[in-house]
Amino acid sequence: MGYVDLHLHTTASDGVLSPSEIVRYAKAKGLQAIAITDHDTIEGLEEGISEGEKIGFEVIPGIEISAEHSSGSMHILGFFLDIHHPFLNERLEYLQKARAERNPKIVEKLNRLGIDITFDEVLKVSGGGQVGRPHFANVLLQKKHVRSFQEAFDRFLKKGALAYVDKFRFKSKEAIHFINEAKGVAVLAHPNTLGMVGHSEFEKLILRLAEEGLKGIEVYYPEHSSTEVIQYKAIAERHGLLVTGGTDYHGIEKNGLEIGVGRGEMKIPYSIVENLKAIRNRS
Ligand code: AMP
Ligand code: ZN
Ligand code: FE
Ligand code: FE
Repeated sequence: MGYVDLHLHTTASDGVLSPSEIVRYAKAKGLQAIAITDHDTIEGLEEGISEGEKIGFEVIPGIEISAEHSSGSMHILGFFLDIHHPFLNERLEYLQKARAERNPKIVEKLNRLGIDITFDEVLKVSGGGQVGRPHFANVLLQKKHVRSFQEAFDRFLKKGALAYVDKFRFKSKEAIHFINEAKGVAVLAHPNTLGMVGHSEFEKLILRLAEEGLKGIEVYYPEHSSTEVIQYKAIAERHGLLVTGGTDYHGIEKNGLEIGVGRGEMKIPYSIVENLKAIRNRS
């Protein structure tokens, strides 16, 4: 059995490769399957899945939802979604509206800071997919308002920075609910970004999320230390949750991050996909 990558972004959100390109790239890299998990959108899935069918490569329809969380960012992955499910589509349209309201406000804030940037420039960089803050960062970089992508976030775009504008997020319970309604399997993404210090605090959160219908934890992730991997895996086992893994590859050569392997050390076995399928068929 081969290896998989269950956390990937495309041009449908803030990735660089189109859904077809990422599917072909994953196959060329020798992976056995991937999940496309764009932020708050399923717009890339039809293209990705049909490309997979064309070239004989398994593509799992997924998503990554940003949910409300006090001390950091909580992202919830959904795997094996029914992409035509009306409730899922209605909830995602709501998120699109919230994003569309936020984005021009970022431009306004930047302009008020004396920075010459238009929303058209951001749209152009986004290539027609959903617009996110990384696209603003790219324009700021291109126009030499900052010296690096990261500087754009640190000075202007990250939470609390000069041009930050918050956007609506669903509560974890709501996100997990619409993923489950659409026959998806809900998994907590990269728990190390939750900003939780204590072990017991994290375990309490996992208990709550499991009650809300969470089915797994993304244990294998490039930013997780080997100690964290062991801890998250133990917590997943204690609560009867599945273990998943992915690189969060955006198509950018960020610190040498590569599809499938992360920074070289990741190996996510296909058996994880079988576990996801088994749990999906059970519920
Ligand atoms: P948005 O969905 O428009 O709020 O943008 C969120 C995306 O911006 C995330 O998926 C990351 O790729 C990126 N991002 C968020 N915070 C930071 C940060 N502090 N530094 C670099 N990139 C970030
Ligand atoms: Zn992203
Ligand atoms: Fe994420
Ligand atoms: Fe991601």
